[in-house]
Parts: sequence; C-alpha cells; structure tokens
Amino acid sequence: MSYDQNNIFAKILRGEIPCDKVFENDYVLAFRDIDPKAKMHILIIPKGAYTDIVDFGANGNSQEIHEFYKAAAQIAQENGLTENGFRSIANTGKWGGQEVPHYHLHLLGGEAIGPLVSK
Ligand code: AMP
Repeated sequence: MSYDQNNIFAKILRGEIPCDKVFENDYVLAFRDIDPKAKMHILIIPKGAYTDIVDFGANGNSQEIHEFYKAAAQIAQENGLTENGFRSIANTGKWGGQEVPHYHLHLLGGEAIGPLVSK
C-alpha cells in the first residue's frame, strides 16, 4: 500500500488540523484519540510517512524505531498507565480494522480494558 499524503494523521503532522497533543519530539507525536474507547486513549505516531507496523518495521531506520518505542514507554509512564497496566494495539490493514493509513499505536488504559477481542 502506498502512503496517502492526505490521511488525517498526515494532516495533523502538517498542522492542518488540530490535535490534543500529549507528547512531541523530532520523531514522534502523540495525541488523544478523538473518539476514546477507554478512559485514557492515546495514539502514538512516527513523524515519518509509514502506512502501518509492517512498513515501519521494514523501512523505518533504527533511530526512528528506537525513538518510537522509547517515546511509547515515556508516554505510558507519564500518563499513569504503567501502575495498573494498559493495552497497546496496532490495527493493521483491512482485517485488522485499520481506519487511518499512517502507522499508529493505541494506548488504552485508565480502567480494565477487558478481553482482547469480542466475538
Ligand atoms: P485505527 O482504526 O486503528 O486506524 O484507529 C484510528 C483512530 O484514529 C480511531 O480510534 C479514531 O477515533 C482516531 N481518530 C480519527 N481521527 C482523529 C483525529 N482527528 N484526532 C484524533 N484521533 C482521531
């Protein structure tokens, strides 16, 4: 899948639409999900143009990947998610239910999150 420069997270990164930012550095932006699925729902995105975890893992450089997961740890700690635990999810592609084609990690917490999938 080629990267769509007009996806909503690309627009957020370009400053064309606002976000409720919780973290930013040269490599990573994190913001609150506009339609939270838990008391705390944060999205973490790399600033590079990667469609999903496969693209990021295969084509991201080692500094981008290191900075991404370092930021994820810092964001989880700073937002009080590590004490009782949380869920991190990366939906991927059609069957994974990915809606926005820019790689993002969901952090869901602030309460018990329940089973991994519902049937
Ligand atoms: P996914 O289904 O894994 O691609 O998740 C996309 C997430 O992006 C959903 O949870 C949406 O609620 C969230 N979302 C969509 N637009 C925005 C936005 N403008 N600001 C923050 N979150 C958004």
